[in-house]
Amino acid sequence: MTEPRKAIVAGAGIGGLTAAIALQRAGWQVQVYEAAQTLRTGGTGLSVMANAMAALHSIDAHVPVEQAGQVIRHFSFKKHNGDPIARMPIHEIGEQLGHPSVNIQRPLLLRALAQQLTPDTLTTGLRCVGYAHRPDGVTVQFEDGSTREADLLIGADGLNSVIRQQMLGETPTRPSGYVAWLAVTPLSHPVMTEGYVAHYWGRGKRFGLCDVGDGQAYWWGTCNHANATDAALNISKQEVLGTYAGWAPEVMAAIEATPESALLKIHARDRQPVKRFCDGHVVLLGDAAHPMLPSLGQGAAQAIEDAVVLADRLARTAHLRDALADYQAYRHPRANGIVNAARFMSGIEQAESPFACWLREWYFRLTPQSSLRKKNLEILSFKPCT
Ligand SMILES: Cc1cc2nc3c(=O)[nH]c(=O)nc-3n(C[C@H](O)[C@H](O)[C@H](O)COP(=O)(O)OP(=O)(O)OC[C@H]3O[C@@H](n4cnc5c(N)ncnc54)[C@H](O)[C@@H]3O)c2cc1C
Repeated sequence: MTEPRKAIVAGAGIGGLTAAIALQRAGWQVQVYEAAQTLRTGGTGLSVMANAMAALHSIDAHVPVEQAGQVIRHFSFKKHNGDPIARMPIHEIGEQLGHPSVNIQRPLLLRALAQQLTPDTLTTGLRCVGYAHRPDGVTVQFEDGSTREADLLIGADGLNSVIRQQMLGETPTRPSGYVAWLAVTPLSHPVMTEGYVAHYWGRGKRFGLCDVGDGQAYWWGTCNHANATDAALNISKQEVLGTYAGWAPEVMAAIEATPESALLKIHARDRQPVKRFCDGHVVLLGDAAHPMLPSLGQGAAQAIEDAVVLADRLARTAHLRDALADYQAYRHPRANGIVNAARFMSGIEQAESPFACWLREWYFRLTPQSSLRKKNLEILSFKPCT
């Protein structure tokens, strides 16, 4: 009997955990190393869109995620004061595809994935610092000076990936031009029906409000900032309230309900897309490969698609380098296309000039539901192969 192939995954985020599940189910021996002491217990929420749910379904990993989250039932764009602009047919597309889009608290998503790994897969508190090629595999180096050998190293170590840095050298991040505040908070409000999602648009500002189930709301607010560095993030809850003064009552209620300590502040960034995701027996996925701005809610979804396609290609051939080349060729057009689309959409959503805001509103008001459905269907469809 041949030995199972061995993979090391650097990073126990959404992409790394999904890759580990997919490979274990395909018969690989997998170890996941996470730099943090625990899986992320903080953090806020996110939407696992229909394409990601389809990808999870294809490896039979979708049920715990759906159970821990809240299916999106109503998705709309609104003016800052809550007046409707357009309804987005996200729920209908989910029904058509047979896979819903799901809002979920990030720690619950990580737990729902991690619980599907075989025992002792995950080691926390151990940072991967680099790798060295071997003719038939890779030696992975860790912060404590130890090394481990494997047939495959998966760099799933996020935006500031050290595996990417070694593979591709310096590839600077690109600022989004805005700062963002996020939180999950208990919220009861008549507007917040089951599966509610609304994006409220102002001038150079946005606010998102999502039902993540169990009486909890996930919200995020963005605001253009000339110098959107980390230093610009440190504003208080009172200042966030001031930023959205006069917005819809449910927006103000969500911020009011949030304890100051639950407020997360971030500066969203992406990177210029690259076409190279692999090097010898080392491969990148998720934010390590193609970090994107959050406008389309697709960063985690693309990490999940990467993981599932990677395991699929590895299962098709014993030639690991061929499988990685196939994964790279198949994944970079889709993932990089979404990086570009997210940046384009971000520009529209963060528009400041009255004319641009007026145009944006009328475009979405006048576009028929059938067209919105067609435009979203492409992104929300998971296609594991051509
Ligand atoms: C505000 C905001 C909202 C978003 N909303 C959505 C959304 O609604 N839907 C969606 O699909 N996406 C969304 N995203 C994007 C999504 O969060 C990311 O794309 C996704 O988390 C990427 O997953 P990942 O596994 O590639 O990386 P990460 O989630 O960053 O995980 C990387 C992991 O690797 C660990 N790590 C780092 N370095 C090392 C190392 N050297 N060794 C070992 N471990 C290491 C980290 O601690 C972390 O646990 C959003 C992003 C932001 C910023």
